[in-house]
Formats: sequence, C-alpha cells, structure tokens
Amino acid sequence: MVDAQPRCHGCGAPVGEQHDRVCDVARCRATGLQWDSCDHTSIAPVPHEPDVWTGRWPGEDDCERLGWFARLEPGQGWVPCDPDAPGAQPDINRLYAEAEWDPITGHWTPKVQTR
Ligand SMILES: [Zn+2]
Ligand SMILES: [Zn+2]
Repeated sequence: MVDAQPRCHGCGAPVGEQHDRVCDVARCRATGLQWDSCDHTSIAPVPHEPDVWTGRWPGEDDCERLGWFARLEPGQGWVPCDPDAPGAQPDINRLYAEAEWDPITGHWTPKVQTR
C-alpha cells in the first residue's frame, strides 16, 4: 500500500486542491485522461478542468476498489495478481484498458460487457 503524499509532486498542490494547468499528474475531470493529453473539446457533463490532488496517484484508489493489481514477473512483464501479493502495484494499465471514466463520480468503472 502506498502512503498518501501531502502534496502533489508535480505542482505542489495540497490534498483537496486543484492541480495547476501544467501539472503532469493532473487528470482532466471530463475525460479522466492526463490533462496534457486531453484536447478538452469533447462534450461532457462536467467542465474540462484539472482534477484535485487526493494524496494518491490518479487511478490508484479505483484499482484498490476494484481489486486490480499486478506485479512485475521476470521475463513476463506485469502480470495480474492478488492485492496482497508481494510486489503488487495498482494495475493502472488495466484501468485504462478495461474501465471507463465516469465524469459524474470522478471514478473509473468497469466497462459494461456487451457480449
Ligand atoms: Zn499537481
Ligand atoms: Zn479535457
């Protein structure tokens, strides 16, 4: 488990305050994408603005909630594992691949399977 950081290491925002607009940790509230990577033109139910520093890396709390963890296995790269396995890290890549951003709640939720 990673300890909460009192200030963003990108822009120095304290917990609960918005990142500045050049912070590379900031995510766009409307899309969940990295602030720099969003073109801020899509129609969303919330404005495109930087999110708030929570004390955690963006997405980590959602990985914990979903139980999505991975660890680095020699020769195999990142492999899904249990949250309490040695070396387990929140599986942010899986979040981007298998979840979608909910701008209303500000959380990632698993994509609805359409099959
Ligand atoms: Zn920041
Ligand atoms: Zn945006």
